[in-house]
Amino acid sequence: MAIKIEKKIVGYQVHTDASAAIKEAEVEQQPKPIEMNEKIERPDFLLGSTYKVKTPVDEHALYITINDIILNEDTDHEVRRPYEVFINSKSMEHFQWVIALTRVISAVFRKGGDITFLVEELSSVYDPNGGYYKKGGVFMPSLVAEIGAVIEKHMKCIGLIESEELSDTTKQILAEKRAEFEQAAKANTAESSAKEEPSPFPDTAQLCKKCNTKAVIIMDGCATCLNCGDSKCG
Ligand SMILES: [Zn+2]
Repeated sequence: MAIKIEKKIVGYQVHTDASAAIKEAEVEQQPKPIEMNEKIERPDFLLGSTYKVKTPVDEHALYITINDIILNEDTDHEVRRPYEVFINSKSMEHFQWVIALTRVISAVFRKGGDITFLVEELSSVYDPNGGYYKKGGVFMPSLVAEIGAVIEKHMKCIGLIESEELSDTTKQILAEKRAEFEQAAKANTAESSAKEEPSPFPDTAQLCKKCNTKAVIIMDGCATCLNCGDSKCG
C-alpha cells in the first residue's frame, strides 16, 4: 500500500535486515553498562571526600570536596567516578576564579570518558609570583596545581589513576643510601636547630625534576632522588 507523505520529512531510519535485528537482540540481552555522560541525573545522595589544603599563600585553609557517583552498582562494571567538585575557603580573595574552575572541572567530570588529563593540565599551571614547598619537600608551582594535586590524590583513592608504588627492593636501596648520606652529613655539620616543618629528606637535598620533591642527594658523583628513585651519574 502506498503512503502519501503530507508532512516534511524530519528524520528517517534505515530498515535493518533480519541478521542485524538478531544481533541487536543479542546485545540487548546483556544490559550495556552505563557509561558516564552528562545526561545522567544527579542522584539525591552522593558519597564525597573533603580535603583540607593549607598553603603558605593564604592564611585560611581551602576545603576541597569531591563527590563521586557509582555507576552499574553491584555488577561487574561497577565504577566510581568523580561527579562534582566544590571548594570552600574563608578568604574570598580567589572566589571568582575558584568558582569558575570548580564549575568547569565538574562539567568535565560529567562529560565522561578519560578525565585524568585534568590532573596534568592543572599541575602544569605556574604562578608568576613563584610556587612554594609543601610538607615533605614537594614543590607546588601554583594554587591551581595544588587543586590538581588533590584531584589526583582523589582519583588514586578511588582507583581511577593507578598509583605508582616503588618496589620493596628500590625502597630498601633508597633507605640504605639515605642512612649513609645522613651519617656522612652528621660528621660534617653540627646538629641543626629544630625546623618548623621537618622534611622527611635531608636539608641539603635538591629538587627532583621527575617528582617535584626536594629529595635529590649527591653521593659518589651520582644524583639520586630519595623519593622516586630517579638517578643520574655524571
Ligand atoms: Zn624524584
